[in-house]
This record gives sequence, C-alpha cells and structure tokens, in this order.
Amino acid sequence: MIELLRGMRDIYPPETAVWEKLYFKASELFNTFNYKQILTPVLEKTELFSRSVGASSDIVNKEMYTFIDRGEDSVTLRPEGTASVMRAYLANSDYRDKFVKLWYWGPMYRYERPQKGRYRQFNQFGLEAICSQNPIVDAELIYILNKFYTELGLNNLSLEVNSVGCKECRPAYKDNLVDYFTQNNDKLCDDCKRRLLQNPLRILDCKVETCKILASKAPIITEHLCTECDTHFKLLKEYLDNLNLKYTLNPFIVRGLDYYTKTVFEFTSLELGGRQNALGGGGRYDELSLELGGKKVPSVGFAGGIERLILLLEPEIFSEKQIYLAVLDDTTLKNIFPLILKLKETFKIIDDSFKTASPKKFLEKALKNNIRFILFCGTDDFAKKQFLLKDLKLSIEHVLNFSDLNILTDKISEILGG
Ligand code: AMP
Repeated sequence: MIELLRGMRDIYPPETAVWEKLYFKASELFNTFNYKQILTPVLEKTELFSRSVGASSDIVNKEMYTFIDRGEDSVTLRPEGTASVMRAYLANSDYRDKFVKLWYWGPMYRYERPQKGRYRQFNQFGLEAICSQNPIVDAELIYILNKFYTELGLNNLSLEVNSVGCKECRPAYKDNLVDYFTQNNDKLCDDCKRRLLQNPLRILDCKVETCKILASKAPIITEHLCTECDTHFKLLKEYLDNLNLKYTLNPFIVRGLDYYTKTVFEFTSLELGGRQNALGGGGRYDELSLELGGKKVPSVGFAGGIERLILLLEPEIFSEKQIYLAVLDDTTLKNIFPLILKLKETFKIIDDSFKTASPKKFLEKALKNNIRFILFCGTDDFAKKQFLLKDLKLSIEHVLNFSDLNILTDKISEILGG
C-alpha cells in the first residue's frame, strides 16, 4: 500500500462538511466587507518567496518545497499567500494605483516537523488590503477577523498588536538590539546565534526559554519608532479602541516573514496550546512591492490557519439537524419512496441505504450515531397517511400527517428548529 506523505492529511467526511461551511461563511463575510476573492497558482518562481518572505526567514531557509522543473527553472510550492497576491496585483494593469481588497483560501506548503496543528500541506485564508497606508484599513481588517472568529463561537482568543517600524526607524533599533544580544551571545540558542547575524528581530519571538528571558529585557521597538510609524500606530490603537476591540500590546511580535512594516498582529488561542497557539497573524507590508520590482504599494493583510481553526470549533457548530429514516417494511418503503425523495430536498435524511428493520434496531443505530431525530413509518402509519417523528433528546414523539407536503415540511422545520 502506498502511504500518505509525512505531514499531509486526507480529510474525510464528516470533517469535509465543516470545511464547506467554513468556506461559505468566510466568503460571505469577506464579500460583505467588499473583499473579493483572488485565485493564484500554488506553484511560483522560487525568487518570489526568497525576495519577499526573506532569505533570512526560517521559511526560506529550511521549509520551502523547492525543485527544478523540466524547463530547468527553480520553482516553489507557495509557503504563504501574500507574495503571490502582491505579484498578481502588480501584474494587473487594471489595478495600477488603485485600492483593492482581496481574499484567498487554499493550500500552503512548508517542510516543517509535523505535529498536531502543524502540517506540511495546510490551508490558509487571507485578506489583503492593497494600496492604502491608512491605519483605519488595518483596523477594519482586524475587526473583520475578530467578527469571523467570534461568530464561529471562539471567545477565548487574544489579539496582540505591535508595530515593527519601517526602514527609517528599524535600522537604528536593530543596532541597539544587536548590541544587547551580542553582549549575551553565549546565552542564545544556535538558531538565534544565526538570527543575530541575519535578522536579530526574530530573536524576539524565539520560543526557547533562555532566549525568551533575554528577549524580555531587550530594547523595545515601539520606543524607537520614527514620527510617521509612531503616529500610524497611535491612530491604529485609537481606531481599535473606538471599535471596543480588546487587544494587548506585545512588543515581541515580529512575525516570521521579513516583509512586515509598521502594524503587526496575531490572534492566539490558549486552547491550541504549546508552540502552535497562533491561529493567524498579519500586518503591513508597505515595501513588499518594491522587493518584487514594482513601485511602493503600501498594504496590509492577514493569514489564518484553517486546520487550527477547525481544531478549536465546537463539534456542533455546523452540525446539521439530521433525521434518521426508519421505514419498517419494504411495501411501505416502496409507497413512501417518492415522498422521502421530496423531503430530502429540504432535510438531511440519513437513509442507511434504505434498509428496513425493526423500530428497536433503528433506535439503537440512531443513538450510536448521535442522531437526534428518527422518522418512523410502518404499514399502519402509511394507511393513516402519517409519520412518527421521534425526538430522542427531548423524548417526545410528533405525529405528522403527510397529505400536504408544504404543511409537512413546515412542521418538520419547526420541530428541528427547537
Ligand atoms: P504564518 O503565515 O506563519 O503567519 O501563519 C499564519 C497561520 O497559518 C498560523 O497562525 C497557523 O494558524 C497557520 N499555519 C502556519 N503554518 C502552519 C502549519 N505548518 N500547519 C498548520 N497551520 C499552519
């Protein structure tokens, strides 16, 4: 038997139903706020990511699925979505200098050590607001995500916000940071020793305990912002306050990708636990377009992990009210078959390949499969033109006349709604 690749997952029903619902919920919400869907290829030139995500990032250094294709080009399975969206924005002449709001949804690839909540193929949804430097756009984006998560019933999330400055103010801050960490070089983990040379900011979000202790006393970026970044950050906080959004200022959020400027933020959940507690994150990338050879297009975006989101959802969040079909004999089944097909257009009816059985058998099966409603019909019921709809949770039975399909559907909807 050929086995699945490590870090990849098959997603079977009933989980696929959750994916479908989530996709529609996301699409509905993002479209309401005028974000439009964009689809970009999963395979891109390697250069797109090495130039944008950054040669010093963990992703580019050790996690990309890169190979030489048959045309001798170096290509990479996308490890994230923003670089492709910016590439597509720059390539589309209709978008030139225009403010555009886009969202995406799809698989990403990172060669990481797999564990619960961390896979080598995983899925992200993302929002990108391109060509605006206004912090009100950052605030709206955060508001939409917060709305998405809260409407899905996730109440224990924390939102952490920071500013990582820009190319005016960050170099001086970086120098401060390098001085500080160089004095403590012997206490850094091996990865951070490399980061100190390549990208010292990344030391701030290292998860190794000794590095965390050192980082907690390091100089803080928000105390070194230039006037422009400082004003931007103050305004963002005011907009968030006006929206009554609860957030924590966390100067240690720097994000794993090199292209961020000014705003950065993360939604985390303690319930995810351990190092995989980040549900999603984003920020501004005002200079990403320059890295890709375009002119400056200030923008802000976010990417959220879908697998981790599903891990947090209550199982019943999207659970449909299923009805278990319990026809007691074959003659009744033959007679009632057309009506059952009509009912299937409106209700989720589990037919168990139309097997007939005793009421006791049906009851046992419904209980075993956690189905709350059973629709019984036997010879006597059929003669009286009626069904028996049993609610196992409330232990009540409803006798339903089926002579009029509309009345019957209304009645069943009413019962399922309760
Ligand atoms: P990032 O692009 O690294 O900021 O990731 C954004 C979100 O994608 C994270 O907060 C996770 O929810 C999710 N994510 C990132 N990497 C993985 C992975 N290897 N497996 C599953 N989800 C991931």
